[in-house]
Amino acid sequence: MFYIQIVWGDELQSKAIDQWTRELPIIASRGLITDRNGVVLAGNEQSYAVFIRTRSVVDPVLVSNTLSKSLGVDEKKLYDKILSTKTSEITVKRRVDKQTVEKLNGANLNGVYFSPDNTRYYPYGNSLSQVLGYTSIDGHGQSGIERYYDEYLSGYDGEILYEADLVGKDIQGKNARYISATDGLTVKLTIDYELQSICDGAVAKAYAEYVPKSAAVILLDPSNGQILAMSQSPNYDLNDLPRDDLQLLNKLSRCSLIVDSYEPGSTFKVLTAAANIEEYLKGNPNAFSLEHIFNSSRYRYVDGKKIKCWSTHEKGKHANENLAMALNNSCNPCFVDIALSLGKDKIYEYITAFGYGQATGVDFDGEALGMLVPKSAVKNGDLARIGFGQTIAVTPIQLACATACAINGGYYYEPYLVSEIKDSQGRIAEMINPKLKRQVISEKASKILAEYLEGVVANGSGKQAYIEGYKVGGKTGVFGLTCVIIAMKKRGIMA
Ligand SMILES: [Zn+2]
Repeated sequence: MFYIQIVWGDELQSKAIDQWTRELPIIASRGLITDRNGVVLAGNEQSYAVFIRTRSVVDPVLVSNTLSKSLGVDEKKLYDKILSTKTSEITVKRRVDKQTVEKLNGANLNGVYFSPDNTRYYPYGNSLSQVLGYTSIDGHGQSGIERYYDEYLSGYDGEILYEADLVGKDIQGKNARYISATDGLTVKLTIDYELQSICDGAVAKAYAEYVPKSAAVILLDPSNGQILAMSQSPNYDLNDLPRDDLQLLNKLSRCSLIVDSYEPGSTFKVLTAAANIEEYLKGNPNAFSLEHIFNSSRYRYVDGKKIKCWSTHEKGKHANENLAMALNNSCNPCFVDIALSLGKDKIYEYITAFGYGQATGVDFDGEALGMLVPKSAVKNGDLARIGFGQTIAVTPIQLACATACAINGGYYYEPYLVSEIKDSQGRIAEMINPKLKRQVISEKASKILAEYLEGVVANGSGKQAYIEGYKVGGKTGVFGLTCVIIAMKKRGIMA
């Protein structure tokens, strides 16, 4: 007796609980997603899940009839399930609103139970839709931040344990045991919603005005790799997903700034210029001096193939260009000369150091790597075109990170979207700090390049991005403008 009661006691008791209890889940509240200042971007609305414990149902006809009327479920199927001996518990419907549940509760149906549930709610609907992502009906992250950080956001469901007899009926008068749910953690983004809404407005305006296939903006803090805004059109309302059209949903939810590659065109000349400046400062005889005047012909002949500038070079256009002016004018032949003179080994060294052809490491699923011709297969014609951003594909986030590195002193930071994870009491569970990966060019080379890029906006092809009172640098391209506001005059911060 001593042995059974004292030594085995606990074990036997827990076995008894397994055999004699039936449980109802208590759904954990999903963690919030906020911007860097605590603005809630993804939250929850209170709702309820409706369950049936089949063995406790006294009147299956009444239960299936009442529930089908108020919840819109199939009456016959529900009735069959209740009578089936296979299941002891049926989840009838989730995310049922409070009013409906109060009415059902008032009907006092035997065997029908309610448990708090959560409905994800996105206060800004279409904003950041590809970044935040969405959850399945039962609250699992399916894309974006919702998926990448799902294990933090999910929390742990609790349960109510009832003692039940062998066939699963409640034992009247017996106590229930309550195991509370652990709510999910709050995920704080590096996004600044104020800046985000400005970008959303700009992207929406461009999309409406020029009717492109898509328009997108990424805003990155070059001093630490934090992503401040990511905006994309077309987008979709996270509170109204086309769940029945999976193809459309997949298309709309692609975060093209991270998962899609494109040919960067002239924006890539930032890399070619950076490589030349750095190699020149290092004393590489294959680099051009900063005063060097490039041949003003519109054409270059590479392995018998003619490569031309986008401009006609008529009436003295693109004449007498040094490197700074070549950037201002975005003159292709000058960058062909640099690429061929530095050679493929050097150019590929910089391509790799600036993070192309590899994942940036951003905290997001499905990042594309872009496309590089394998170095061993690169012909002179390819190398010449790579010099001005053709025969290569990059992701917008790669381009943003490389450009940030080129002008911030040469420091390549891993980009990131989440800076902090904390619990509902505000206690920090995890801090994510800036990650410096490497220095690609010297501070001196970076400073020279930043000044040249300011020239592009002040005097060159990027004039439309000029803002009075701010230092703005940039580089234009066929597929858009990479614009870097180098420093804000008033607040003195990098952005
Ligand atoms: Zn030209």
